[in-house]
Amino acid sequence: MMKKKKHKESILHCKDGTCYLCMKLDGDYAQKRHLHEHHIFGGNPNRAISEAEGLKVYLCLEHHTVGPAAVHNNHENMRILQRDGQRAYERTHSRGEFMALVGRNYLD
Ligand SMILES: [Zn+2]
Ligand SMILES: [Zn+2]
Repeated sequence: MMKKKKHKESILHCKDGTCYLCMKLDGDYAQKRHLHEHHIFGGNPNRAISEAEGLKVYLCLEHHTVGPAAVHNNHENMRILQRDGQRAYERTHSRGEFMALVGRNYLD
């Protein structure tokens, strides 16, 4: 049996000190002092799946947990990540594989 890698680098965001949403929403490519790792599909078992498949991004506090633009407070911004995560996954997998993995389609 093939051994599956437990930890994988993000498949959509290079860990270079930038915040994914600062770049995407504000065009801000500056390195942030504090970044959190955010798993795009949370809850059980999706958090473990996100980790194993590299479905995660790095976020500043304001885009992670603090304030109105934070993904954990802001449904719209959470959905942006889920859609980008699905798109990134489907670059190398089928829609059926994504559905089997996450159980929900976030695109179209
Ligand atoms: Zn940010
Ligand atoms: Zn998070």
